[in-house]
Amino acid sequence: MRCPFCGNVDTQVKDSRPAEDHVSIRRRRFCPACGGRFTTYERVQLRDLVVVKTSGKREPFDRDKLERSIRISMQKRPIEPERIEQMISGIVRRLESMGETDIPSPVIGEIVMETLARIDTVAYVRFASVYKNFQAADDFDKFVSELRPPNLGED
Ligand SMILES: [Zn+2]
Repeated sequence: MRCPFCGNVDTQVKDSRPAEDHVSIRRRRFCPACGGRFTTYERVQLRDLVVVKTSGKREPFDRDKLERSIRISMQKRPIEPERIEQMISGIVRRLESMGETDIPSPVIGEIVMETLARIDTVAYVRFASVYKNFQAADDFDKFVSELRPPNLGED
């Protein structure tokens, strides 16, 4: 697994343990090149989902993109990383259990907003304000790039 900090490919697993009631394995990794530490999750993928954009274009569902947008909206919120991980897995499981492999992109946005609304109002408002301005929410990359954490006068 490549180090997300320095790009070194030779990283070490320090610890593996089941997470989220044994639906995934959490591995703590260490990069000997830069000393960076990061965590990866290994999980079963039940089905290969396809996102159908409103333009009709189809692309494979990308869990990382979903995760990125959610993490940005939750930045600096007092929410445990484990909880965020569980939430993302819950969203993916809902998508996987919808009975269709083709998921319209607005359905994903709605599910994310619904889930965020239950967990953290601030994160919900951040996500929803970008999402609703973003017509048809068609290009998820563009969406993620517009979803910026608020400037709280830090950093
Ligand atoms: Zn590194």
